[in-house]
Amino acid sequence: MPHESARDAPPAAPEPTSDVPDIPPETHLGRRDFLLAAGLGIAAGSLVPAPPPAGIREAKASPPSPSGATSRTSVRSRHARDENPHDAWIEVNSDAIRANAREVSRMAEGRSIVAVVKNNGYGLGTVAVARALDALPEVATLGVVKVDEAFELLEAGVTTPILLMGLAPPDAEEELARRGVRLTPYTDDAPDRLSRLARALDRPVPVHLYIDSGMGRLGMPDHRALPWLEELTASRAVAVEGTMTELAETEYDDEQLRRFHAFAAAAREAGFPLGRLHAAASHALFFRPGSLLSAVRPGLALFGAFPAGARALGMAELRPAHRLRARIIRVERLRPGDAVSYGRNWIAERPVWVAVVAAGHADGYPRRAVDGCRVLVGERSYPVIGAVSASHTVLEIGDEPSVSLGDVATLVGPDDPAIHPNTISERAEISVYDVLMHLGGHLPKVVSD
Ligand SMILES: *Cc1c(COP(=O)(O)O)cnc(C)c1O
Repeated sequence: MPHESARDAPPAAPEPTSDVPDIPPETHLGRRDFLLAAGLGIAAGSLVPAPPPAGIREAKASPPSPSGATSRTSVRSRHARDENPHDAWIEVNSDAIRANAREVSRMAEGRSIVAVVKNNGYGLGTVAVARALDALPEVATLGVVKVDEAFELLEAGVTTPILLMGLAPPDAEEELARRGVRLTPYTDDAPDRLSRLARALDRPVPVHLYIDSGMGRLGMPDHRALPWLEELTASRAVAVEGTMTELAETEYDDEQLRRFHAFAAAAREAGFPLGRLHAAASHALFFRPGSLLSAVRPGLALFGAFPAGARALGMAELRPAHRLRARIIRVERLRPGDAVSYGRNWIAERPVWVAVVAAGHADGYPRRAVDGCRVLVGERSYPVIGAVSASHTVLEIGDEPSVSLGDVATLVGPDDPAIHPNTISERAEISVYDVLMHLGGHLPKVVSD
C-alpha cells in the first residue's frame, strides 16, 4: 500500500495570522493536572509548571448541563472532580465575536444587525455567543429558529430583543410573546392565532412578517401576502416591526429582491407599515450589495467564517471566534509496515512518530478532514492520517517525537491558516457551516469575556 502521506507537505513553519488573544489551555486543565488525572504515570517533576492564566479577564465554563445553558462556574474548581481529561473542549472568544459584529456593521454601512445565533450558536453555545453580542449597539435583535433557544436566551437574561424565526406551539407562543419575543408569522392561520394571542395579552403582538420571495422554504408566498396581511392587521392583532425574506443564494436573488420590493411597495401603498426590511445573510453581505435594505441578518460571519468563495475577496477581516481543542493522549513510534486506524489505509513506510488527539467526528471534527487537513500542536501543524474516528484523530509527527503526552492540540481555530474553518471546509470538501454547526453540543466551553 502506498505511503499516503507522500502528498502532504512537511510540517509547515508557524504562520501566525491572528491577533485573537490566546486562551491558555491551563485555564481548562494544566498539562501536569492532565497527566496526573489521566494516570499516565509520568513523573510530575519532569514537567514544567503551568504558567498562570494570562490575557483573559475571566474564564467561564459551561458544564454540559441538560439545558445546555452556560454557567459561571470556575473552570479550575471543577475540572479535577468531574472533567475527564480525555475530553475535547471548545474555547469561545467573545472579543472576536464583537469585532466581527463591528466588521459586519461596517460592511452594512451602519445598518442594524439581526444577529443569528441559532443551532447552539453555530456550535459555540447559544448563550455564550448571545452574551458576547448583548448590549452591542450594532446588534438590534438576536435571531433563533427553535423555541427552546428563545427560552434559553430569556432564562440567561439577555436584554437584546429576540426574534423567533420559526413556529411555536400555541402555548409556547403565548408565553414567548408575553416575555417579549418577536414572532415571525407566515401561515394561513396566523390572523386567527395572533388575534387570539393579542386578546390574551391585551395588546398587539410585535412581529416580523416572514415573506417567501422564491426560496420555497418558510414564509407567506409574496403573491398571497397582501390579502393575508389585510386580514392580519384588521383586528389589530399585530404591531409590525419588521418584514423579512430569505435569499436562496443563486442568480435568482435579484429576482427575489424584486418580488420582495414589489410586495413591500403594494403593502405600503395600501397603508400597511412593514417596519424594517431585512433579507441579507452572510452570503449577501459579500455578493448582493443591493440586498442590505434596512437591516442585515448574518450568522456565520459573526463567528469569523466566510461563506464559500468570500474569503479571497478581501472585503472583510473576520476572525474565527472559537477553538476546538483536545489533548494528545498517545505518542508512539511506528515501524515500517505498521498501520493507522480503521481501514488500515495509512501504512508507515519508515520509522515514524504518530500522536493521537482525543477528539473526533462525534465532537464535530469532520470525518473527511483526513484528506489533507492538519492539526496545530504548539507552533507546528501536523497532517491528519488514517481515519478520523468518533473520538480520536491521529497525526503524523515525523522523525522526531516533537510533541508530548498531554500537549494541547488545536483542531480548528484562528491561530494558523491550516486550521482556519474555511481551510478545513475547502480541504475536507464540506460546507463551512458544518465545521461550526456540527461541533458537539456536549463539549465543555471555556468562554473569555
Ligand atoms: C441561518 C439564517 C440566517 C443566517 O445565515 P448565515 O448564512 O449564517 O449568515 C439568516 N436568516 C435566516 C432566516 C436563517 O435561518
